[in-house]
Amino acid sequence: MKKQLIFATGNANKMREIREILGDSEYEIVSMKEAGIDVDIVEDGTTFEENATIKAKTIMEMTGQLTLADDSGLEIDALNGEPGIYSARYLGENTSYDIKNQTILDRLKDVPEEKRGARFVCAIAAAFPNGQIRTTRGIMEGIIGYEIKGENGFGYDPIFYLPKIEKYSAELSSDEKNALSHRGAALRQIKGLI
Ligand code: IMP
Repeated sequence: MKKQLIFATGNANKMREIREILGDSEYEIVSMKEAGIDVDIVEDGTTFEENATIKAKTIMEMTGQLTLADDSGLEIDALNGEPGIYSARYLGENTSYDIKNQTILDRLKDVPEEKRGARFVCAIAAAFPNGQIRTTRGIMEGIIGYEIKGENGFGYDPIFYLPKIEKYSAELSSDEKNALSHRGAALRQIKGLI
């Protein structure tokens, strides 16, 4: 039987990406729901790494099992790095991404291409039962595009444009996204540490 680790997220999209990338590791990946954990964790850190660590440590202490957690978001240069660690809560937790994405496009309407830089950032924390914590960070660089485009992915993917491959993030297949994404990069690094 495979050893288990818990991935502390309630987001089904993330869980799918995580399983695709860590699927061939020596661990069976269990979601919080599958582990029977239902807890609201206050993410009051000031960095992606701090928030990921708060989540991983809380669940590890509840279960005694190796726990991974991520914290991710979109940094937009023209908005001084916003929404950053507040990406999920930006413009209101229950506001649709159609509205969030359109609002960002409107706010950047007069911003020239060279100032439209943005990046997705993902920090992953591993909390080991012996109390040790390790973190990794992955980044995907791009720009905020000029329209909402693509049907894949989630969140801000439809406005995040990758100039090198001339595609919006929401136009990537899941294999393409895993190969390029911030979460993919952070997960591949953590795979080497667990
Ligand atoms: P978290 O669940 O606290 O890590 O919040 C992450 C938020 O950042 C998500 O709800 C999205 O708004 C945004 N985000 C993170 N990664 C991605 C991605 O791969 N595509 C689109 N949006 C993302």
